[in-house]
Amino acid sequence: MEKTMKAAVFHGRHDMRIEQIEVPKIKENEVLVKVAYCGVCGTDVHIFEGDKGCAEVHPPIVLGHEFSGIVAEVGAAVQGRKAGDRVNVDPNVLCGSCKYCLSAKGHFCEHMTGIGTMVNGGFAEYVAVPAGQTHLISEKTDMQSAAMTEPLACCLHGMDLCEIKPGDRVLIIGAGMIGLLMLQLSRLSGAAFVAVSEPVAAKREEAKKLGADLCIDPVSMAGGEFEKLCQGYDFNCVIECAGLTRTIEQAVAAAGKKATVMLFGLTKPDDAVTLKPYDVFSKELTLRSSYINPYTQQRALALIEQGRVDVKSMACPPVPLEKLPEVLADAKLRTKGKYVVKF
Ligand SMILES: [Zn+2]
Ligand SMILES: [Zn+2]
Repeated sequence: MEKTMKAAVFHGRHDMRIEQIEVPKIKENEVLVKVAYCGVCGTDVHIFEGDKGCAEVHPPIVLGHEFSGIVAEVGAAVQGRKAGDRVNVDPNVLCGSCKYCLSAKGHFCEHMTGIGTMVNGGFAEYVAVPAGQTHLISEKTDMQSAAMTEPLACCLHGMDLCEIKPGDRVLIIGAGMIGLLMLQLSRLSGAAFVAVSEPVAAKREEAKKLGADLCIDPVSMAGGEFEKLCQGYDFNCVIECAGLTRTIEQAVAAAGKKATVMLFGLTKPDDAVTLKPYDVFSKELTLRSSYINPYTQQRALALIEQGRVDVKSMACPPVPLEKLPEVLADAKLRTKGKYVVKF
């Protein structure tokens, strides 16, 4: 076993360095995972940019919370995991004893530890994680897809809260990775018609391939035209996946009667939107939001393993770890698709 490993260490705003650091030593309840793939998430970008509000980050730290790998070592007290197991990791470690953990609201744990945000994560050759955070992956599932379990699990929690019924009409705003996953989950939930609003042509193309019935370029439409078009469809559910104040306002305007508006895209903590309560009243809207991935990791993995959800076609070709600082720094590069680091 090597003593040191390659890692991308975040030292502060716009400062990430590829370094040789010590391989972590595992505690008795932990396993050491040799990372295979680790996804680059919007959260990593926010942290790189020094945005406040997304997890308590204390540099120097190794980021990366969407990863899969092979168990290399197992702590003395661990049951049900062995060296060689293929796993992915739920990065949110709960304390188990705070008032939220004790009332089935563990994802609001007062002492949550985020792997890859608060403690060292997957942008390194090895990560030490509590064994209970690992989910076993079958032989037939490729490791790159398995690394996408966490983002899909977050979408799945949001989808549960949308309460889409067979036959519903759904509008998705934003066709990045998350929007494209929401599109597929809407179809799996029985939506009869799914529309996608997205200004980037290549992303609309991808949405079409993944089953969107209608792709709208909102930029090409004159004021009020988009809302009018949407009212014609009387959407039962609008899922906002862009996280911009403008698109959140658009989501409320585009919703049909009795619709659910899911605010899924992450805004900055201080962003504020203009909302007319009368619009919510006159359409009897339900406004909802969704926070991380409580108990949806196993279902997300099942969807990936059975090939029900495509988590790969929207990804760029995997990049080496050395490329990560450039990906985080270059917003233009990131418009090409989801980035995944391959070890
Ligand atoms: Zn993420
Ligand atoms: Zn707790």
